[in-house]
Amino acid sequence: MDRNKMIIKMKKQKRIALIAHDNRKKDLIEWVRENKGKLGRHFLCGTGTTASLISDMVKLPVHAYKSGPLGGDQQIGARIAEGDIDFLIFFWDPLEAQPHDPDVKALLRIAVLYDIPVATNRSTADFLLTSPLMEEEYERMVIDFSKRMDRGIN
Ligand code: PGA
Repeated sequence: MDRNKMIIKMKKQKRIALIAHDNRKKDLIEWVRENKGKLGRHFLCGTGTTASLISDMVKLPVHAYKSGPLGGDQQIGARIAEGDIDFLIFFWDPLEAQPHDPDVKALLRIAVLYDIPVATNRSTADFLLTSPLMEEEYERMVIDFSKRMDRGIN
């Protein structure tokens, strides 16, 4: 294995964050409803409004962080960095700017950095959720900055 990488283990039961911008909430709730059985086997969390809508309308337990514009995206990003969230379904709005666009960008960056699966639209979410890896353990490969010698620090 690349010596600059470290492994982070994902369990069979994934810790999935669900987020949807306002214009995409309906689509996400519909997708969650259609996949309630599968999603119910994992731990779910989400930004405030998305989480409470899913809890109310689909009757699945979803841990709620703060609303996205109030810091919820940043909270979820921090949990990914800490290894407590390992999967992201994020229906962001491609047609409208958000007041918290920098937070959205930061969250997507952290998700790539920590090599977690990310779906930003319905078809990707379908492909991810039907992957056999959903029911297996998985080893993610993350850059180990403590071992990187090319950072220009002498
Ligand atoms: P919300 O946040 O679920 O609280 O609406 C989502 C977002 O806009 O990032």
